[in-house]
Amino acid sequence: MIVSAALYANFAWFREQLCLIICPYGRLQSALVDEHSINVAYDYNRGNPPGPARDPNAGDCIDCRRCVQVCPTGIDIRQGLQLECIACTACIDACDEIMTKVKRPQGLIRYVSEEQLEGRKTQWIRPRTILYSILLFLGMSVAGYSLMQLQPIVFTATRMAGAPYIITETGVRNQYQVRLVNKTNQDKRFFFTASAVDDSLPLAVASAADGILVRPLGEVVTPVIVSVSAADFPGRFPIRIEVHNKESTSVWSREVDFLGPDRDLLRQRIFPTAPNE
Ligand code: SF4
Ligand code: SF4
Repeated sequence: MIVSAALYANFAWFREQLCLIICPYGRLQSALVDEHSINVAYDYNRGNPPGPARDPNAGDCIDCRRCVQVCPTGIDIRQGLQLECIACTACIDACDEIMTKVKRPQGLIRYVSEEQLEGRKTQWIRPRTILYSILLFLGMSVAGYSLMQLQPIVFTATRMAGAPYIITETGVRNQYQVRLVNKTNQDKRFFFTASAVDDSLPLAVASAADGILVRPLGEVVTPVIVSVSAADFPGRFPIRIEVHNKESTSVWSREVDFLGPDRDLLRQRIFPTAPNE
């Protein structure tokens, strides 16, 4: 509702003031351009002095002011490039129409540099364009790298609230809460596995046997229970919870800690007659 109200106020009341007062485009442009830059410009050599079409002493501009009428920011491009110009090119189209009607060549207002208007050549390769190209390349590289890092899912694993671990008849159990967000537009079914970070321990994972179905753009929060037998439990150690598709062609993993009591106390409790190692 806030966005709708802002848009309505802009279109119904604020209108071109947005371009004139708020939009940074003109300010940026004025800092970026020089006399070799191609811009929307009026060819004053050809158009001046403005005057009626029948006046043999007048230029090609017939002073119809059509270019001013169509300009969304209300400027007269014949006065030169101005901060308010948003390069919409409406004045180019309007003037071309007029030129066609009075049977004169189009392009009285066109994309052209100041140097070209003065009859000199535009230099395309200059320090400014080299710097802009480097910055553009850097920006595109960062954007490309960011896009390549995009993952089709969001996957987080956190410890469940409550007791940090549960001692069972055979060992220790930890419970994690896994959150999955499917960012694609297709159903996705995910399966879970867990292993010690150094791959030294077999870990049992209890979760839905046929996987977890996450609808397109949907989110599922599900418990994942990891167990270690008392004989294998080494004390607190880091584990890796993995989520993968059925074929295991895509695997995402998160590291969490597996908690438990003192290793010897656990063994005494579960195997009371066995000697401590
Ligand atoms: S539209 Fe063309 S001919 Fe008419 S006033 Fe503008 S520049 Fe001159
Ligand atoms: S390009 Fe658009 S904003 Fe700039 S002078 Fe022409 S009509 Fe106006």
